Amino acid sequence: MSCSPFDLRDYLFGELAETDRRQVDQHVRSCSHCHEDLERLRLTHSTLLALRDEEVPQRIGFVSDQVFEPSLMRRAWRAFWESSARLGFASAAMLSAALVIFAFFRPAAAVSVAVTDTAKIEQQVSERVTAAVEKAVAESEARQARKTAEMLQVAEQRFDEQRAADMKNVSDTIEVIQKRYNVRETLLARAMEEPK
Ligand SMILES: [Zn+2]
Repeated sequence: MSCSPFDLRDYLFGELAETDRRQVDQHVRSCSHCHEDLERLRLTHSTLLALRDEEVPQRIGFVSDQVFEPSLMRRAWRAFWESSARLGFASAAMLSAALVIFAFFRPAAAVSVAVTDTAKIEQQVSERVTAAVEKAVAESEARQARKTAEMLQVAEQRFDEQRAADMKNVSDTIEVIQKRYNVRETLLARAMEEPK
């Protein structure tokens, strides 16, 4: 579990007071475990938010753009975290959020319809969330691979430049030695030629 002084979810949703927030800021910077936790929460959260732009199955069509105002999404998300469904599954999160919103915006009769179709909805949501998470992860990995390739290219270029500079230094040095040697040879030759 997280060792952050305050709940990372509260932090993520801006529910903390300024001083508490700063404490978490500081902790996350020095604690790789909590840093990772926070990144994972961010990824899950942004993935869920991204889902609203995609086509939703008929059964959970109530998750309309209007319903998915940031504050409502936040409330639904928090409702999930505070509920017993807090299992760490994105599908459970989405389903729970959907049901909360459903209960909130639809008459009671409709709710029972939704609940009987829970398994179906859960499967559909799970597929969507899985696909979205996979897509997000693949995109992130592709970005990382591109970055690594770029860095490698820069490093190789630097190495080539350095090697060229080294070679230039060596050839300059050889040239200088050669010149000195030639001068000495010439002087020696002259000295030998000089009459006694
Ligand atoms: Zn920590």
